[in-house]
Amino acid sequence: MIIQGKDVNRSATETADVCIVGSGAAGAILAWEMAELGRTVVLLEKGGYHPRSDFNQNEEQMIPMLYKNSGLQFTLPTGFVVAQGSCVGGSTVVNDAVIFRTPDAVLGWWQDQYKVEEIGPDVMKRYFEKVEPRISVGVVQPYELNRNNLILKEGSEKLGWSGAPNSRNCKTCRQCGLCHLGCYYGTKQSMLETYIADTQSVHGSLVKIYADAAATSVTRSGSRATGVTATVAGAGGQTFNLGVKAKITFIAAGAVASSELLLISGLDVKGMVGKGVAIHPSPAMIGDFDEVVNGHQGIPMAYHCDEFSVVKTGKRGYMIESIFMPPYQFSLPLPGFDYDHKQLMSRYNHYALIGSLLHDENVGTVRLGGPLGSFLEYQLTAADAKTMIEGMKNSVRILLAAGATQVITSHRKKTVIYSEDDLHLIDERGVSPTDINVGSAHPQGGNRMGGGQQGSVVDSFSKVYGLDNLFVCDASVFPTSIGVNPQLTVMALATRAAEHVGESWAKYAGES
Ligand SMILES: Cc1cc2nc3c(=O)[nH]c(=O)nc-3n(C[C@H](O)[C@H](O)[C@H](O)COP(=O)(O)OP(=O)(O)OC[C@H]3O[C@@H](n4cnc5c(N)ncnc54)[C@H](O)[C@@H]3O)c2cc1C
Repeated sequence: MIIQGKDVNRSATETADVCIVGSGAAGAILAWEMAELGRTVVLLEKGGYHPRSDFNQNEEQMIPMLYKNSGLQFTLPTGFVVAQGSCVGGSTVVNDAVIFRTPDAVLGWWQDQYKVEEIGPDVMKRYFEKVEPRISVGVVQPYELNRNNLILKEGSEKLGWSGAPNSRNCKTCRQCGLCHLGCYYGTKQSMLETYIADTQSVHGSLVKIYADAAATSVTRSGSRATGVTATVAGAGGQTFNLGVKAKITFIAAGAVASSELLLISGLDVKGMVGKGVAIHPSPAMIGDFDEVVNGHQGIPMAYHCDEFSVVKTGKRGYMIESIFMPPYQFSLPLPGFDYDHKQLMSRYNHYALIGSLLHDENVGTVRLGGPLGSFLEYQLTAADAKTMIEGMKNSVRILLAAGATQVITSHRKKTVIYSEDDLHLIDERGVSPTDINVGSAHPQGGNRMGGGQQGSVVDSFSKVYGLDNLFVCDASVFPTSIGVNPQLTVMALATRAAEHVGESWAKYAGES
């Protein structure tokens, strides 16, 4: 059952075996897996419930409807945009459907440096294999690559750099190019179309989902979490209180929000909650081509070049990925104002866009305060700044190799590269936060997972240290950033945590 805010006209208290906060990549899977165990679940989702018939492909309406803070979440003091979804299904509803398994090297770091148990590639394979068919993961076919993606392919091949079509969680994609606005055709196999829908049809009597319900605090008695308090944006513009009492509570509100909820609840485990956030900051380079590229028509993210990424090198670096956006989102990072900006936008159909996703260090911090409830403080380290510059230069090289007549960098003051000889301009401009537009859609960390080690917030299976039955399970538990698009890692970790809880139900639920 999905209860929307408009259907709520009084305060109430619910009781269930399990309370879950957040319905994204992790929360939706946790709900399904708990119901599979025969447990009753109340799931609270701050955002609204929007079936795909609501997705009208209009940027002005969809972005405020589906994104946290209408898409305007920035790092301080750097001003990098960090996009996150906020709706039933979470960020999976607005993401690009790109799928990567967690790189083996990254799992190795988690195992060796952070002492996370049972996380090696062989163990995780089982969870990837469980999730992938449920969300219809398949490799993009050559005939599905639009010109924007082919430009990345051709450019990197000319330079001798390795790459491949992406895997995606999409069934018979209609290639409308509007993944960021929710998939009107329902072909993107987001949580909304898969685990949430299946939970409703198979386990409707066990799982109650409240949309428009924001958890405000975790309640507890001694070392046991007793549930969650929430506010519901209810009927007639009124706000109602909702209490949930549960044997086991999972916080799956995503990076930033999960740390915020722990901090608000006075649960700053070892003083580490909110520490160690990474964002995969991704500057994008715009290649201007004589030919019509029409990057907005077709799959926006269908190809990647992994030559400099952890997938190929086993070390931190950057992944170069094709990407494209509808006009409003595309226009935001373009340099200039008024006439200059209009001139640049007039070439929209001739542009190819590629981004370099930086495998960054976990140096960000979530702090309480401000009108949104928390700040995300984040600065590039000197080493990351150097790698970002390298990623920008190699992205430009790809575009030039593919035939771009000029490449516009992501600096705020228009910077144009015409040939290899101009690449020094990128070194000279650097990546000063006041001079660069950087986007992120992958906040990770803040509630680090670790095997008993100082500096972790949750144990190897997502249980919060110091509490018997409170779990945090989402992108916030990654011990390090992962260097590839993270949704499958979140889903696999949620499947693994649910299995663990199922195996030790009596212990965690206080029934033994
Ligand atoms: C535009 C965009 C494109 C992306 N593209 C890709 C891609 O192609 N491939 C990929 O692998 N990853 C992609 N990602 C990232 C990926 O979707 C996320 O990493 C993943 O969904 C994170 O899962 P999560 O469960 O941690 O959080 P989310 O999926 O973000 O879910 C968290 C949910 O919790 C809710 N919530 C927050 N606070 C509260 C509260 N107090 N009470 C109740 N509910 C709350 C939020 O509203 C949200 O719905 C993209 C993300 C974005 C925004």
